[in-house]
Amino acid sequence: MPEKTIWRKRAETVIRNLKLRGINSVYFEDSEEANEFIADAIKKGATVGLGGSTTIIETKLIDKLRTLPINLLDRYKKGITKEEVDKMRLDSLTSDIFISSANAITLSGQIVSCDGVGNRVASMLFGPRKVILEIGANKIVNNLSEAIERIHNVAAPQNVIRFNGNAPCGKTGICDDAHCRYPERFCNDWAIIEGQNDSDRITVVFVAGKLGF
Ligand code: SF4
Repeated sequence: MPEKTIWRKRAETVIRNLKLRGINSVYFEDSEEANEFIADAIKKGATVGLGGSTTIIETKLIDKLRTLPINLLDRYKKGITKEEVDKMRLDSLTSDIFISSANAITLSGQIVSCDGVGNRVASMLFGPRKVILEIGANKIVNNLSEAIERIHNVAAPQNVIRFNGNAPCGKTGICDDAHCRYPERFCNDWAIIEGQNDSDRITVVFVAGKLGF
């Protein structure tokens, strides 16, 4: 399928550039193989934190993680309370492995994310000894401007609708940054990862497909 070929070729460029930034990355045509790879990277008994991610639900990575002999901070567990989720967000900051997605990744290898609360980007930046980001190939963009555009006009509006928020983009599908403020605003905490000092810390796992927001 031409689309899959394009995704793979674009990902090959990103993978080369991520290496120059001290970030590992791999590409899978199939989410099951990607999930196997991630499961194999987690040691028995490890504490595993999760960022808010539609991708890990769509790929069923969450189901795979639930079968492992690990201490999973499972914020998607049925019947979980807000207080329990908040505690998991805090505990994720010191987890052995933090698993999430990102909102966009540029061809030159900049990983771009934006949070409403900030727990996901905080854990990506510092704390967990290892970070695994499962990212759909649809999130590869040409540059930082496109990454920000993607977050404002693709990712955030879908998140606002998903959480029944009142931010302007949830009503029109278009970001209205100038008139979006507390408490409606989702785009509060931005992170651009340009590189790592420890080349073993972050692994990006690309999956061929349209995944997440
Ligand atoms: S700044 Fe506000 S309107 Fe713009 S994308 Fe973010 S939440 Fe939506």
